[in-house]
Amino acid sequence: MKIDVELAEGLKTPLYYYDKALLEATLGEIKRCIAGKPVKVHYAVKANCNPKVLKVIADAGLGADCVSGREVTAAIKAGFSPDTICYAGVGKTDRELILGMKSGIAYFNVESLEELEVLDQLAKEYGYKPSVALRVNPNIDAHTHHYITTGLEENKFGIHLSMLDKAVEYTLQSPNLELVGLHFHIGSQITDMAPFKYLCEKVNELIANYKSRGIEFKVINVGGGLGIDYDEPDKNSIPDFKGYFDTLLSTLKLEPGQELHCELGRAIVAQCGVLISKVTYVKKGVDRQFIILDAGMNDLMRPALYGAHHKIENITASENAPVEKYDVAGPICESSDVFGKDEMLPLTRRGDLIVLRSAGAYGESMASTYNIRTLPESVLV
Ligand SMILES: *Cc1c(COP(=O)(O)O)cnc(C)c1O
Repeated sequence: MKIDVELAEGLKTPLYYYDKALLEATLGEIKRCIAGKPVKVHYAVKANCNPKVLKVIADAGLGADCVSGREVTAAIKAGFSPDTICYAGVGKTDRELILGMKSGIAYFNVESLEELEVLDQLAKEYGYKPSVALRVNPNIDAHTHHYITTGLEENKFGIHLSMLDKAVEYTLQSPNLELVGLHFHIGSQITDMAPFKYLCEKVNELIANYKSRGIEFKVINVGGGLGIDYDEPDKNSIPDFKGYFDTLLSTLKLEPGQELHCELGRAIVAQCGVLISKVTYVKKGVDRQFIILDAGMNDLMRPALYGAHHKIENITASENAPVEKYDVAGPICESSDVFGKDEMLPLTRRGDLIVLRSAGAYGESMASTYNIRTLPESVLV
């Protein structure tokens, strides 16, 4: 990740700064890994829906994974072909289902029997025949894989395994619906390949079982979740896509003609973006000192929301400045509006530029106007 400091100094902060070269290199690596293989990657738009970023990803030829009607619209506007878009989410409204059908998306990831019935009715009423992948909740044991958070029975996502037969039969019998696949998504920021392998083994069992009953699925969608290195963004600026795809392809027993679909979000965009912020005050406390930034939790919510940590750097401090210990915080009236405690940084002054690294995913897309602040600016360089 390269930052043009001079350029950044001339722009308004807080600023999301995206490195186009790194984004393209990341996309290039994905394309190399899947070349010649029956794999389609759908970019999870919710990770970063900045139109400039979306366009680079659309231009690279990826599909899109959307979780709201407005994401479908934004993806199409950015240049994603509708027939490469899949649409997931537990609470799609009638309007959103109709919008998806009208837009000609590839398929819906349907998350419940109730949604299936509504989609069936709307399809009949409006004269469409939407394709459906059933989102399965694989109930992967959190004690075995504690990093998994969305694939458990108590999570709201997906169709419970005990109800899957009913959903499969319903879809097959409906003249208004086309059954194309099964969909899974087990969680996010997964850096160990074991949970993906475990998921694929469960998928194999399921598809073998259906095959024995004469039911086949064209698409096996294993969702997203590949993690990135927040501690060492320069050492690991591109995630281990080779390890990821090798794990999936060597474990899954795909039939000829069957396609593996993935929905990667974070792994594609996290490292190519940073949040640049200007130091408003260096405030002395009794036994600590605070760097107060002009960026707050409304601009980058992950630390306040998940206790996440983004690597913090001062990009304008003088080269041989002594290192000091700081707490780095935003201006919002919440105690959780803190980006780092006991950070070792070069001597920092009012007006310096501080960078929060690896902020390209779930940064700008989660920003809000809390405290009636303006939304952060962005630049793609
Ligand atoms: C959020 C989400 C993704 C992307 O997750 P990442 O961890 O960013 O890769 C993929 N699929 C679905 C259904 C999601 O909700």
